[in-house]
Amino acid sequence: MALCIYCGERSGLLAKICADCKKLLARVNELKGKVGYGEFLDGLAETGVPKEKIILFLKADPEGKGSVQDQVTAEMTSELMQVMGLKGSQSAGNVKGIRESIDKEKK
Ligand SMILES: [Zn+2]
Repeated sequence: MALCIYCGERSGLLAKICADCKKLLARVNELKGKVGYGEFLDGLAETGVPKEKIILFLKADPEGKGSVQDQVTAEMTSELMQVMGLKGSQSAGNVKGIRESIDKEKK
């Protein structure tokens, strides 16, 4: 019997990933980049896989590229940074515009 590379449970004869983790992995790919972290966790819970197993799955790092959780968080964070970067530059422009209009009024 092989063991699941994510949760460490028996995954069947030749499978590297058990049925539950396969389900979770498919869900991760569906949700990744589309929802916030809370909705992401809810989406995983909807698969019917026990919470303890979801946690094991999220913390697993079978490829040495960072855990599933880290990968998802990194993706969400970089998106957030992009959004904030965009808003940041806009508001910097706004601030400049406001400052200039104040200056004009003073003159
Ligand atoms: Zn598994």
